Amino acid sequence: MSSEAVTRVAILGASGRMGRTLIESVLEMPSLKLVAAVTQAGEAVVGSDAGQLVGKPSLGIAIGTDVAVAAKLADVVIDFTRPEGTEAALAACVAAGTALVIGTTGFSAAQKAAIAKAAQTIPLCQAANFSIGVNVSLKLIADAARTLGAGYDIEIVEAHHRHKVDAPSGTALRMGEAAAEGLGVKLEDHAVYAREGVTGARVSGTIGFATTRGGDVVGDHTVMFLGDGERVEISHKASSRGNFARGALRAAAWLKGHPAGLYDMQDVLGFK
Ligand code: NAD
Repeated sequence: MSSEAVTRVAILGASGRMGRTLIESVLEMPSLKLVAAVTQAGEAVVGSDAGQLVGKPSLGIAIGTDVAVAAKLADVVIDFTRPEGTEAALAACVAAGTALVIGTTGFSAAQKAAIAKAAQTIPLCQAANFSIGVNVSLKLIADAARTLGAGYDIEIVEAHHRHKVDAPSGTALRMGEAAAEGLGVKLEDHAVYAREGVTGARVSGTIGFATTRGGDVVGDHTVMFLGDGERVEISHKASSRGNFARGALRAAAWLKGHPAGLYDMQDVLGFK
């Protein structure tokens, strides 16, 4: 494969659950080459070899802490960190003119605006969930909401491992947006994120969320359409992180060579 056909990637959050899975997965994809792996200063893994970190032979790439250097080396930076980590990635990628794949979730409105602003300068692909199965589910959810219409109450239930720090999950929110899109409304005007005590009867047209946290659940999501006398459920269950990593790497390969703009996995899969 010519060096131009190979996409050079840098992985941010390399010490994390997703970062390690990305390092393992990138080694299985000949069209991609790992050129940098970055984590936070002070972590025990800084300076160790990225290959050895995941139990593979040495790659000659030391885990670093400098996002700006990684952005200069790579065609595409892949960020699975925390929102503050993404802020640093945005600044480094804009300065270097490098494409960015964002898998991190839990952004504030201001951070979302910063992502949209950066996408005016660099190609950027953001998805709350890079799994291909989830992205097919999003399409099914929008179609179901459109067809079933307002007579069916929509509730979204999700479960994740005990370490997850944000709720509801970015994927649950994205599923809520897909349902709202299907109904022709905005999620923020209809979402109910918590119920406790005497809440009163369910308000028609709302989209409810419920969150479960515990154990090692990689990610379960079910969208229920509850009608009179029947219900439809669209469920996705992830059993390993490999599907997120492969989707993010596929997005990285797709993003190289695209013009500046804000893309998502629906673009990568050709659904738009
Ligand atoms: P993790 O806690 O295992 O790893 C987080 C990594 O980010 C670590 O390397 C840590 O050092 C680094 N980090 C933490 N704070 C940072 C900061 N302020 N600046 C720079 N780096 C920082 O988490 P994880 O399970 O790997 O998940 C990481 C993110 O990816 C989360 O937001 C999670 O919700 C998201 N996620 C997204 C998808 C998807 O498909 N989009 C799938 C799984 C997880």
